[in-house]
Amino acid sequence: MQRTTLSTGGSIEGRCTKCRKNTDHIIISLEGEKPGKVECQICSRQHKYRPPTVPKKTAVRQTIKPKDADQKEWESLQLSEESAKVQNYSMTESYKLNALIKHPVFGLGIVQRIIGSQKIEVLFEDGKKTMRCQ
Ligand SMILES: [Zn+2]
Repeated sequence: MQRTTLSTGGSIEGRCTKCRKNTDHIIISLEGEKPGKVECQICSRQHKYRPPTVPKKTAVRQTIKPKDADQKEWESLQLSEESAKVQNYSMTESYKLNALIKHPVFGLGIVQRIIGSQKIEVLFEDGKKTMRCQ
């Protein structure tokens, strides 16, 4: 058996909730073949062993926000306010799918979805918004 087994008093890298980072811990007790209770060598806090975290991976996952996707979609549409089809947005108007509208706050938008009878989903440069309509 070449396998290295953990033993109490040994050192192991783990996540410390007090230090909020991966630190070296001394193993106090074992739960089977896994570390049970450990003591942080930085802050001396004793706690249940937590495996070290890998912050880089989670950071990558967070770079693509839904809003960025909306903006890419918006850019790909290349809408122009010069278009003769642009209507000024009003709650009392009714809109069809793919209608171009101009909102006083959000600017130019395109109707992407008709939600029920009085709501539309509009893609603005700022992202998707649900708007009232007739
Ligand atoms: Zn600590």
